[in-house]
Amino acid sequence: APLPGKRLSVSGVGKRFGGVSALTDVTFEARPGQVVALIGPNGSGKTTLLNVISGFYRADSGEVRLGDETISGRSPHRVADAGVMRTFQTPVVPEMTVRDAVATARYRSDRVSMVETMLRLPRYWAVVRRDREAVDAVLAACGLTDVASLPATSLPLGTRRVLELARALVVDPSLVLLDEVASGLDEEEVQALADVVRAVRDAGGTVLLVEHNFSLVRDLADHVVVLSQGRLVAEGDSESISRHPEVLHHYLGE
Ligand code: ADP
Repeated sequence: APLPGKRLSVSGVGKRFGGVSALTDVTFEARPGQVVALIGPNGSGKTTLLNVISGFYRADSGEVRLGDETISGRSPHRVADAGVMRTFQTPVVPEMTVRDAVATARYRSDRVSMVETMLRLPRYWAVVRRDREAVDAVLAACGLTDVASLPATSLPLGTRRVLELARALVVDPSLVLLDEVASGLDEEEVQALADVVRAVRDAGGTVLLVEHNFSLVRDLADHVVVLSQGRLVAEGDSESISRHPEVLHHYLGE
């Protein structure tokens, strides 16, 4: 099913913490159907930028737009309502089945009130029926159908990461933010995750990926943005970026 990916525009974003400039005048775009990778050494501002985009931090200058809307200055909740979905380095999956973990992610938008849910009113069941198809489709697209009734916590780490991605995808996100999703995974698990991210991109999703694993970046990213000390120091396709001195130094050990 096509995803309603929107263009992410980060324009002149700056963010300071006391005397530290975590981000200085950062400008780039990510388009629907594109995977953009954000790379840079520790402390270069990647996490701060994700926090600005998702509304956890307020930028001191510049703006973040999603399609035609300005999302900078909104609360995290309202940024999520605009369709910005983030997966975390440490996935938070409660003790529930894989299917329920995906289904509950879909209910986060307040289409059904807590009272309706508790009282199992008709509107609740209408939403459940409508959402069941969406949940099944995402489980299938992520290769999770066979494990749908297992407890989420019983899955190997790689599959739990795919589940986190499935929970982001089930709300039809306009932008998916992936934070170090490959860390700790073996090569086979990384490839399985990369396949899902490619499917998201090919379905028209907009993906912004913070990633240390440069071979995954090379594999997956259509466009690479390099941060160093809070500034954008290079951008381009992964081929040209892999020849950049900063990247050679920090990622390829040269
Ligand atoms: P990265 O994710 O690339 O490792 P960060 O965005 O975490 O980089 O950090 C960028 C800079 O901002 C660092 O110098 C870091 O110490 C500083 N920083 C990040 N978050 C905070 C914070 N909440 N308070 C103070 N300084 C911070």
